[in-house]
Amino acid sequence: MSRSVLVAGAGPVGLSAALAAAASGLSPRVLEARGRDEERAGSRALFVHRATLRHLEAVRPGLGAAVAAAGLTWSTHRTLWAGSEVHRRSFPTGPAGSGLPPFTSLPQTVLEDLLRDACEASGIPVSWGDAVHRVTAGREGVRVRTASGAEHRGGHLIACDGPRSVVRAELGVAMAGVTTPADFVVLDVDEGTLPAEPERVFHYRHPALGRNVLLVPFRGGWRIDVQCRAGEDPDRVGAETSRRLSEVVPQLNGPRITWTSVYRFQQRVAESFTDPQERVLLAGEAAHLLPPFGARGMNSGIADAVAAARAVREDAVATYGHERRRAAEQNVAAAGSALHHLLAPRRRQRWAQRAAAAVAPWSPAAGRWLDAAPYGPRLRSVRY
Ligand SMILES: Cc1cc2nc3c(=O)[nH]c(=O)nc-3n(C[C@H](O)[C@H](O)[C@H](O)COP(=O)(O)OP(=O)(O)OC[C@H]3O[C@@H](n4cnc5c(N)ncnc54)[C@H](O)[C@@H]3O)c2cc1C
Repeated sequence: MSRSVLVAGAGPVGLSAALAAAASGLSPRVLEARGRDEERAGSRALFVHRATLRHLEAVRPGLGAAVAAAGLTWSTHRTLWAGSEVHRRSFPTGPAGSGLPPFTSLPQTVLEDLLRDACEASGIPVSWGDAVHRVTAGREGVRVRTASGAEHRGGHLIACDGPRSVVRAELGVAMAGVTTPADFVVLDVDEGTLPAEPERVFHYRHPALGRNVLLVPFRGGWRIDVQCRAGEDPDRVGAETSRRLSEVVPQLNGPRITWTSVYRFQQRVAESFTDPQERVLLAGEAAHLLPPFGARGMNSGIADAVAAARAVREDAVATYGHERRRAAEQNVAAAGSALHHLLAPRRRQRWAQRAAAAVAPWSPAAGRWLDAAPYGPRLRSVRY
């Protein structure tokens, strides 16, 4: 078996795949379209689960702990209905047996920098600024031609080149699923003066905006996620949120907006995660698109990356394809259920939410049910 593995894309999934491949005794090379120091916009993925920290710790000892230390872990989350608290939960944030906290919250760019530094320290070569252009997979291995005209050969290719994956297109693999036509506006603000005890807060019908709003702290700032009403112009919602920022996040003192964006919930999975020759493995957003709510996109992508490296080492690419596709479908189902709770498209559901909010002061179960919106249901069988 050839030990050389090409990795397309140096996002969080590609860099993790390269580290996992090196830890498995393979020889990875990363091919990335972006320049090494090119600026990347916004915080994007914030929430890194303990399972992901464990993966990173396993592929490079000290890396999971370094990521945890670079982020923020809060110990309380609250849910409010029209400004009144309907649920509050505090939980221990101390390290478990692994020495890692239950999660950490940091901008994706900071995580990517830590992964990139780890790759450099491991001697993994990265070709920056050279996009994958053509892919040919055969029984003996993979040939990749890049935009500069260079040709690279490897035993396998782990495709982590994101939502518009060229590798996926080269294989002729389609994505199946839906995009929900509901807009969300996302704003990052710098921390101004962070409250002494940062907490995650979800508002149904925020009193200042009359819309659902999720506030997530991270090291260096806060993420504000505003759900637009059906048919609303998201730019106007973004402008209104900016204008009324001190009412939207009264905890903050003098914050400054550092990034705004608009997104829609995507729930799409590639029809196959591998090619017929079992030489190419799709991972991360090249393989599945998930909504930010639930924090499954990057976390499940890093789980793909680790599984892909193991599959190459163990010559089990077909198993990888089946197992990770199944995990992606479970993640899509969980995210879809969160979205349904959030949008409450039926009158009966909206009535149930109002009733739950009314009884929540006496019924912790009603408060817990309302609190499920940002994450979706807890399904024990779902792995990232
Ligand atoms: C607002 C928002 C909030 C989010 N919050 C969370 C969260 O809290 N938790 C979570 O788990 N996920 C979250 N996500 C999702 C997360 O950002 C993505 O799942 C993650 O970026 C996917 O990583 P990736 O490496 O697969 O793809 P990308 O991050 O898109 O990286 C792909 C890389 O491939 C490169 N590339 C593209 N084409 C080529 C080519 N032809 N050749 C070589 N390189 C190429 C790109 O330049 C890029 O560097 C969020 C997303 C958004 C938009």
